Amino acid sequence: MKSTLATKNVVKEYHVDEATITAVDDVSLELHPGEFVALVGPSGSGKTSMLAMIAGLLSPTRGQIFLGGEEISQMSEAQLTAFRRRKIGFTFQSNNLVPFLNVQENVELMLRLNGRYDKQGRERAIELLTRLGLGERLHNLPSQLSGGQKQRVAIARSLIHDPDLVLADEPTASLDTTLAYQVVETFAELIHEQNRIGIMVTHDLRMCRYVDRVIQMMDGKLESIISDRQEIEALAGMDSHAHTPTSHQHPHPNGTGAVRGKVKQNGHITIPGAPVMSPTMI
Ligand code: ADP
Ligand code: MG
Repeated sequence: MKSTLATKNVVKEYHVDEATITAVDDVSLELHPGEFVALVGPSGSGKTSMLAMIAGLLSPTRGQIFLGGEEISQMSEAQLTAFRRRKIGFTFQSNNLVPFLNVQENVELMLRLNGRYDKQGRERAIELLTRLGLGERLHNLPSQLSGGQKQRVAIARSLIHDPDLVLADEPTASLDTTLAYQVVETFAELIHEQNRIGIMVTHDLRMCRYVDRVIQMMDGKLESIISDRQEIEALAGMDSHAHTPTSHQHPHPNGTGAVRGKVKQNGHITIPGAPVMSPTMI
């Protein structure tokens, strides 16, 4: 049984000289197993800070974060390290593959870190990589792969240890459009099938076609949450037929109403010329 993620009135302040920057301002939300969401908003709106707190890499200044029965925001450093290893998978724009390990070894590394490097784990790594179209590439080094292939290795690595929560910060920023669609589509399928919670920070609204909800941040606040399928498709530009890969839509697995706190449901999201950022998370 996978866990629900809840943030309750989460605030993150940074103190720079005499000034206080409120990067995340009173964000409450709830995400359920099997749900894949996009976290969007202009640069500086607090997305990475939010993701880093959910990952247990940053502590909230105020408020609480729970995954299942466990309160992430109360854990010690040692508890957080164990928690991240067990429960969380990460994928980043720069995929952080170990250059001297081959594809299979890069994925198995997560099993070793978790003390789960056994025959079964190795078989699952091969199965997952094959599923991601890398069955012929198991013994290649990262330098022998294309950008899209490397990103798919990173996705396999983020899933192999059976995490409840999978986080991706700009996973497609270095990919061309067709590859980006493929990567996010497969990622979405795996999140849904394996009943995990997936959160993807993205500047590319077209990638929202594969998510169940779009969470928009603005100036640290939760600006709106869109769960209506038609609104999500409009946001992703699917009514314009501008970039239409052959694809199917994912139904929302959990119905509606998982939102708490004050959320403006205006549905009008524009990201004014936001640049692609590099991840600043770890
Ligand atoms: P996003 O990922 O949406 O660009 P961030 O969470 O990176 O947003 O940043 C939100 C705000 O917090 C910005 O104003 C940013 O400058 C500020 N900020 C982020 N990290 C730090 C830090 N370590 N110290 C001071 N200010 C920070
Ligand atoms: Mg960011």
